[in-house]
Amino acid sequence: MTEIPNSHPRYESLMARERIVKGVKEGLTSLQGMIAQGRGEAFDYLLGERTTPSANAATKAAAAMLLLAKRPAISVNGNVAALVPAGMVELAKTFNAPLEVNLFHRTEERVAKIAALLRSLGAPLVLGERPDQHIPGLEHSRAFATRGGIFDADVVLIPLEDGDRCEALVKMEKKVVAIDLNPLSRTSRMATVTIVDNIARAVPNLVFSAAELSKSRPEYWRSLLREYDNNVILRQTADEILNHLNSQFSQQFSNTQNIFMQREH
Ligand code: ATP
Ligand code: MG
Repeated sequence: MTEIPNSHPRYESLMARERIVKGVKEGLTSLQGMIAQGRGEAFDYLLGERTTPSANAATKAAAAMLLLAKRPAISVNGNVAALVPAGMVELAKTFNAPLEVNLFHRTEERVAKIAALLRSLGAPLVLGERPDQHIPGLEHSRAFATRGGIFDADVVLIPLEDGDRCEALVKMEKKVVAIDLNPLSRTSRMATVTIVDNIARAVPNLVFSAAELSKSRPEYWRSLLREYDNNVILRQTADEILNHLNSQFSQQFSNTQNIFMQREH
């Protein structure tokens, strides 16, 4: 990997790029995955590269939903495997959920490599190498799913998922938790709970939320979900982006004014 000094102002973002490039070189991540990362980065910039209050609220609801699930499952694709493999194993242990390798550009070789990586990091159960079911409404290999994993889960966590597959899972009447930096993506709009945050921040935050919620009773978790409205959260995210842009541009504008004022004197 290219040396990035950790004093660099864009250190985290540059490191994420390095991880994706390494993922491609090692055969975990598809080339298209690099483009998806770029789209995510653009939205992260607009958010101010921070976990917003709406993302925190969604993360808490997501933790409640996954704690209450009877059969949770967690989907892992090539970008997720390159960016936060250990974090996904931690989530699997936290929620007692299988990890299912689920690739948009599926090759058996990539599935096997990702599964081996997750196992080497201590994942208790990794599925996806031998899918035995199809998700209705999706074409051929994009429909693959496994019994005991995503196929018959009641709650599915889908980080960085394609909109069509998210919609197909919702149509199967599953509760879907998405992690996606684009609040306008079809995935974000279709999911039951959408965490609009960078996966690098969202995963540790979700582990932390689950630990905090575990100190309270399931009745409290249920009350969080009764009060939760994903459309309200996405609207709040849009406001957070607009406020961030306004504050950035008003700073910029006041600097410009200062320069003109200095010139006049
Ligand atoms: P949709 O099909 O849902 O409308 P899309 O076509 O924009 O969405 P894909 O390219 O299929 O989405 O999937 C990538 C999604 O993952 C994008 O919405 C992108 O913003 C998001 N994404 C990429 N990198 C990250 C990341 N590091 N953290 C969180 N989200 C990310
Ligand atoms: Mg898409």
